[in-house]
Amino acid sequence: MNIILLGPPGAGKGTQARLLEQERGLVQLSTGDMLRAAVKAGSEIGLKAKAVMESGGLVSDDIVIGIISDRIEEPDCQNGFILDGFPRTLPQASALEQLLNAKGKNLDAVFELKVDDEKLVERITGRFTCADCGEGYHDKYRMPSVEGKCDNCGGANFARRADDNEETLRTRLFAYYKETAPLIGYYFAKKNLVTIDGMADVNDVTSTIKSILDGNAA
Ligand code: ADP
Ligand code: AMP
Repeated sequence: MNIILLGPPGAGKGTQARLLEQERGLVQLSTGDMLRAAVKAGSEIGLKAKAVMESGGLVSDDIVIGIISDRIEEPDCQNGFILDGFPRTLPQASALEQLLNAKGKNLDAVFELKVDDEKLVERITGRFTCADCGEGYHDKYRMPSVEGKCDNCGGANFARRADDNEETLRTRLFAYYKETAPLIGYYFAKKNLVTIDGMADVNDVTSTIKSILDGNAA
């Protein structure tokens, strides 16, 4: 099963991808995570992507299509994957379609997570993650159960993204509405689109997605 999670920054794509990964044995493919790893490693791709990511703009289609094309060839992706943050432009969507066709793979569903802009600001400015395992937290909505200790791995190091500030978020939202929102129409026309209330509780969002994947209408 191959699915896409579509939505603005802070909509809950990464949160849902991690939960579905654990429960369904699907692999989370986050182009944002892959690009941040490339920046950290100082690779050629990382050097090209760094300044654009810091500004909140979109990295070039060539780069992200190349990354995804290589990644979905890997053995762990053969049982299915959850695309989180890709595609983000129409050329990326069309490249994905060609890649899947060439590999004889299907796209099973595209879940659009709908969240109001004011809520996105609150979610993004309060977001932090475990630096060891990547588990996601929030100052208001999800603090570690034991202060300073990751619920998932017990780690004590937490990190906040440099681009998770109100000013950069404005640029990221602008990029979303200009470049990514047209994908809603694109996938609606292909009958792949399922729109979900991303304002709901994390567990309610997960249940809705799972029941749709299981073939029950939400
Ligand atoms: P995205 O991957 O779409 O940018 P995240 O999954 O990282 O978004 O979520 C952004 C922040 O909002 C995180 O701190 C996360 O813990 C929190 N969050 C995600 N989904 C919800 C939800 N349904 N309700 C409240 N907070 C949420
Ligand atoms: P994310 O982790 O999904 O919020 O992505 C962080 C940043 O990485 C974005 O603001 C972009 O600069 C870049 N990025 C991630 N995925 C893509 C993509 N599919 N296309 C272009 N840029 C991307």
